[in-house]
Amino acid sequence: MLPLTELDQKYVWHPFTQMQDWLGHEPIVITSGKGATLQDSKGRSYLDANSSIWTNLHGHRNPALDKALRGQLAKVAHSSFLGLTNEPAAKLAGELVRLANPINLSEVMGPDDTLSKVFYSDDGSTAMEVALKQAYQFAQRSGLSASPRFLSLEGAYHGDTLGAVSLGHIDLFQKSYANLLFPTDSVMSPYCYRCPFNRAAPKRADARTYRVCEWECVAKVEEVCATKQAQGEPYTAMVLEPGLQGAAGMIPQPEGWLQQVSKVLRRHGTQLIADEVMTGFGRATVDEDSNGQPVWFASHAEGVQPDFLVLAKGLTGGYLPMAATLTTQRVFNVFLGRYEEFKSFFHGHSYTGNALGSAVALANVELLETKRTRQQRHRLAAALRTESAVLWELPQVGDMRQCGLILAVELVEDWKTRKPLALKDRAGFRVCEAMARRGVLTRPIGNVIVVMPPYCTTPSQVQQILTCLHDSIVEIFPNHPKN
Ligand SMILES: *Cc1c(COP(=O)(O)O)cnc(C)c1O
Repeated sequence: MLPLTELDQKYVWHPFTQMQDWLGHEPIVITSGKGATLQDSKGRSYLDANSSIWTNLHGHRNPALDKALRGQLAKVAHSSFLGLTNEPAAKLAGELVRLANPINLSEVMGPDDTLSKVFYSDDGSTAMEVALKQAYQFAQRSGLSASPRFLSLEGAYHGDTLGAVSLGHIDLFQKSYANLLFPTDSVMSPYCYRCPFNRAAPKRADARTYRVCEWECVAKVEEVCATKQAQGEPYTAMVLEPGLQGAAGMIPQPEGWLQQVSKVLRRHGTQLIADEVMTGFGRATVDEDSNGQPVWFASHAEGVQPDFLVLAKGLTGGYLPMAATLTTQRVFNVFLGRYEEFKSFFHGHSYTGNALGSAVALANVELLETKRTRQQRHRLAAALRTESAVLWELPQVGDMRQCGLILAVELVEDWKTRKPLALKDRAGFRVCEAMARRGVLTRPIGNVIVVMPPYCTTPSQVQQILTCLHDSIVEIFPNHPKN
């Protein structure tokens, strides 16, 4: 048999990868992992600083998750969810509904607003498709709209299947498929660092904290919603990532934005589809509610209960592909009827409600709620804040923004001008390659470096990651007088 690297280069096509570059150098072959670290075939050890593309919560080979998976394997790996159910998937639905409806939000929720129904699928994209189709049918069947239309944020990314791509607004991913997509509208994203309405001069701080504006970004949402309604029908739903937009460049929302936007949507009769594929399960906030309970979803941190809650990445703690779309009884009801009315939700996948995925997701939820994980999460949030401060001394660090357990560092030509680095120079990629050589793995979004390690990452590992990032930036920009 060929060596692994040759097998890969001969036969494999990698996602979101320029394969011409890929074929030009030897890939890293991951062979094992433990906690926050991964090991490669050469015995080198790396810190997993982006949680294996934002999926992993408790680290690799977590004993509790491993055990849950083995336990389920000893029973059955998979059985169809068409006409049958299974133990872990039914239990998981109950747990997800519990987490999605914290008691302190019950005042803002009527009985019909409870997220009480769970539809399973396989990954973030498919879970978005489910929300999209359900919202579409809901709007039509309840007489709200004859031709439902969706609103999302500029720069949005909601997955790669065609419905999800239609909701997105990243030119690079859309243009080639323009004729296959359905039209959606976009509205400005609250990107304080690059906001045309932010009159503040650059400072060495998270741009949200020193912005000078009049909430023009919220007014824009109001404006497009009002315009749409004046044309006859409101938007069916606005789709957004609460807390922060991930793939758009880790763009966190200023406090209060989501709550205001949610009110605008309610006023116009537009539903809210919360894509918490990345932000869910405590990734984007370490807040606790008035009952002292951790806030698991970024929507709830703003006191907002969406009509659809879309979950994937962290659902299984980063173990298996599985996703869930939660919605309300109100939406569920429009799919009820006599068989021959054919109102069923005609949608599903072969692996829907997979028992292994559900079993490990159940263990994930259990682990999340332990005191130990709660402590780890607070410790990690604090370490990211403390250890990242050193980066402000680098002139290429334009904005640095933390949202819960996610830290993003936007590299620019010079912080004083906010001038973006040319994308073709691949500075973000080069910094991440330099980090990998130093034993830290992450993936940039353009020139934004993402640091979001598993919750079990220790303060000294965080220090290692940020020192590595610092030194890698200095390596890639050697000529700057200040470096
Ligand atoms: C990753 C991601 C998706 C797509 O999920 P896949 O599992 O990659 O299909 C959708 N929305 C958000 C916010 C994501 O981060």
